[in-house]
Amino acid sequence: MKTCPNCKSDVDAHFELCWNCNYSFIEQRVMTTEELTKTTLTRDIQCLRCETPMEDSGRFKFHEGDRIGFYGSIFELFQNREAFDVYHCKNCGKVEFFLPID
Ligand SMILES: [Zn+2]
Ligand SMILES: [Zn+2]
Repeated sequence: MKTCPNCKSDVDAHFELCWNCNYSFIEQRVMTTEELTKTTLTRDIQCLRCETPMEDSGRFKFHEGDRIGFYGSIFELFQNREAFDVYHCKNCGKVEFFLPID
């Protein structure tokens, strides 16, 4: 167990990020949500199922008047967002969604 120098929360020793305030023990500062999203996206994205590099399918944008319910529950996560990025695996067809970084 270690203590976050920013918010004094107890953080599990093997975590590099404070669960409470996003303080990074590596960077030694609080990370913004944008930075955390970017860190994920600049990595090569590999399919969790077959370890094939995933391809960027482009950005999905909601159009005004679209009914979220039509797309099913996965899109409920994004209902407060206007757009998100879609990646797909050519090998097994798995699709993953990421919040836009810009
Ligand atoms: Zn903290
Ligand atoms: Zn796959």
